[in-house]
Amino acid sequence: MIKTRFAPSPTGNFHMGGLRTAIYNYLYAKKNNGTFLLRIEDTDQERSKKVFEEEILQIFKIFELNYDEINYQSKNIQKHKEIVDALLDQNLAYKENDGPYRFKVNREKDYFEYEDLILGNIKIPSENIEDFSIARSDKSPTFILSNLVDDHLDQITHVIRGNDHSINTIKQKLIAESISLNKIEYAHIPLIHDLNGKKLSKRDNITNVDFYLNEGFLKESIFNFIIKLGNNFNDLEYLNIQDAINNFKISKIVLSPAKFDIQKLEFINQHYLNQLSFQEFKLHINSKNLKATENYNLDIIYKDILSRVTTTKKINEEISYLINFFHKKQTVDIDNNEKDLIQKIYKAIQDLHNEEDLLEALEKNDLFLKKIGKTVRKIFVNFESKLPIDKIIFFYGISNFKERLLLYLSWLMKKDLNL
Ligand code: GLU
Repeated sequence: MIKTRFAPSPTGNFHMGGLRTAIYNYLYAKKNNGTFLLRIEDTDQERSKKVFEEEILQIFKIFELNYDEINYQSKNIQKHKEIVDALLDQNLAYKENDGPYRFKVNREKDYFEYEDLILGNIKIPSENIEDFSIARSDKSPTFILSNLVDDHLDQITHVIRGNDHSINTIKQKLIAESISLNKIEYAHIPLIHDLNGKKLSKRDNITNVDFYLNEGFLKESIFNFIIKLGNNFNDLEYLNIQDAINNFKISKIVLSPAKFDIQKLEFINQHYLNQLSFQEFKLHINSKNLKATENYNLDIIYKDILSRVTTTKKINEEISYLINFFHKKQTVDIDNNEKDLIQKIYKAIQDLHNEEDLLEALEKNDLFLKKIGKTVRKIFVNFESKLPIDKIIFFYGISNFKERLLLYLSWLMKKDLNL
C-alpha cells in the first residue's frame, strides 16, 4: 500500500512551498488509496518551536489535509542512534578525529544513479560525493540519517519533496542500500521562483501561508493557486480537494521552476469571493463593521462589494468607506447648486416610506441619478466609497436617506442665519 508523508521541521513559519509539498503528498496518497502521515521533525532542539508546530497543525486543519497518522521525530532518536551504531559496527561508517561520524561512500561503481519520479534518471559520478556526516561528534544523528530512518520505520513508500533535497536523496539511498532497507520512490518538485526568477526564500514573509490567510485570501484560492504552480491538473481551472485528487499525476509535474505571481492569486481569489452567499460573506466581516452595518441593507450591496475587491481585507475596507463619514455626522462644504439639489431631493421624497419608490419619485421630479449622484455621494460618503450611487442609497434605506438630507438642510439653514 502506498504511504506518503509530509515532514516539516517546526523551525519557522509554514511557507507556501511547504504547503504545496504537503498537498501533493496528500493527493498522491488519496489518489492511490494509500495513507498520509504528518511527521514533525523536531530534533533540532534549539530551533524547533511549539508555535511553529501549532501553526502547521492549524494550517493542516484549514486546508483539510487530514492525515491518517502523526509522528514526532524526537520519539525515534534511540532508533536513529542504533542505526549509527549498526553502520559503525559494519564498518560502513567511521568517526573522524574529534569530528562527526561519517558514512563511508563506496566508490567501486563510477556512478550512482536512481530514477526520480519527476526528474527522471539522476546519475552522479561517485567521485563527486564525499563521505558525509550521519551523526555529530556527540553522536546525535544528522537530518540525513534521522529522516531516512524515520521514512523506513514509518514504512513510507513514496517521498515527494522539494528539489533542494535531491542531493540528500542520493546520500540517503547510499545508506539504505548499504544496509538493505526497503526501496523508497523519490519525487523532487522543482522549487518556486519569484517573478524575477529568483528562488523564493523561506525567510521572506511574503511566502508565509499565514500572511495570505491574514491578507484575506480564501483557503480555496490559496489551494488552487499553490497546487497549480508546476502542475496543470488536466487544465481544470478551479478545483476542490476531490477534483485535485482525481486529476493529480506526479508525471505531469513540470521540470521548470514555477513562478509565484500574486496577481494570479488575486484573480483566483476574485473568482471564489464572487461565489460567496450573503451568509458566507458576513463571516468575513470584522465585528466592528458588522455592528456598524446592522441597521443597513448590506445584503443589497454585498455583490457589488465582492465584484470590486481582491481580498476579504478589502471587503472590510470598502465597508469602512461606506460608513466612516456617514457615522461622523459631519458636513462638507457645498455650493449653491448643491444646496438647491438637496432641497429639491428632500421635497421629492419627504413623504416616502419605502425605498422601492425612491428612484421613481426622484425621476418624476427630474432628479435623475446622473444629475444628483455626485452631490449625494458627497454628502453621504464624502467620495470615499466608489460603489454605484443607487446601491449606496439602498444600503442606507429611505429613513437614513431622509435623515441625512435633513442634517444638511438644518445645517444650511443655521449657516444662512449666521447661527
Ligand atoms: N524536515 C525536512 C524539511 O523540512 C524534511 C524534508 C523531507 O521532506 O524529507 O526540509
